[in-house]
Amino acid sequence: MLARYGGDHWQNNMKWSAVGGTGDGHRMGLEAGGSLVGEGVMHIHAVAGRQDSFFDRMEMFALQLVVDDNGMQMTAGDEHYSTAALKMTTMNGGYGNFIFDANASFATAELEEMAAEGYAVKADTLEELAEKAGLPVENLLLTVRQHNRHIETGTPDAWTTAPGAMIPVTTAPFYCLKRQSVIMGTIAGLKINNNMEVVRDNGEPVGNLYATGELIFGNLFNNVYPMSGTAITTCISTGQLASDHAVETMSK
Ligand SMILES: Cc1cc2nc3c(=O)[nH]c(=O)nc-3n(C[C@H](O)[C@H](O)[C@H](O)COP(=O)(O)OP(=O)(O)OC[C@H]3O[C@@H](n4cnc5c(N)ncnc54)[C@H](O)[C@@H]3O)c2cc1C
Repeated sequence: MLARYGGDHWQNNMKWSAVGGTGDGHRMGLEAGGSLVGEGVMHIHAVAGRQDSFFDRMEMFALQLVVDDNGMQMTAGDEHYSTAALKMTTMNGGYGNFIFDANASFATAELEEMAAEGYAVKADTLEELAEKAGLPVENLLLTVRQHNRHIETGTPDAWTTAPGAMIPVTTAPFYCLKRQSVIMGTIAGLKINNNMEVVRDNGEPVGNLYATGELIFGNLFNNVYPMSGTAITTCISTGQLASDHAVETMSK
């Protein structure tokens, strides 16, 4: 199922779907005559190889310089975590190297902790950082020079990051934190009508069958998870709509 919804690169991800999320809701709905709508999976990114890292969230929303394993910038600095993770999945084996320096003071405490635990690399110079992180030194130096020049001149970078959404990388200590894309759930889902009834390809309800929550995200968004909170609010509201309709139908 992950291979079907997660695209060619799904194996590049850590998998964090909820306990019990094995796909049987989809299978039951389809076997009953329902149909599928939407494509893809929900992506996020987290400290590479660290399954419990969801709550060290500062890097997710920070103003970042993210480079691929060749030392070249691979996302906009203000990239949404979901599209950044998709780029990591498809362009760089699931990984992104997040470069920080002393200017990222909001992140220093967590970076120090991650360096101590071996999840981040710390160095006094960019050359040393590149070597420790296994990145080509010349490429990283060039990328950082370009990044800083965009900030100095107030021009967007090649990824169209707004200048105000970038912080320079100039001051030791420098850090490189490797992050990995994560699949946290499914977008493709069972097709439903406004009453949350599962419908066939032709739009007719299967009958006496409702689907709500993550099972039906494909009716609302496609391919890319739009924003934290979209999932939970959909789960709550669609559950209410389905139960209202079921009660109303039963009482007739
Ligand atoms: C790490 C992580 C972080 C997230 N963060 C956010 C966030 O910040 N904001 C947000 O909006 N969303 C977030 N989400 C997404 C959101 O939490 C899920 O989309 C949502 O919880 C799905 O709810 P659900 O009730 O549809 O499904 P689930 O929570 O998966 O519940 C389905 C239940 O059905 C049970 N089940 C499965 N098969 C059977 C069966 N055959 N018989 C009986 N029971 C069965 C399962 O065990 C499970 O308890 C996150 C998800 C993850 C994994």
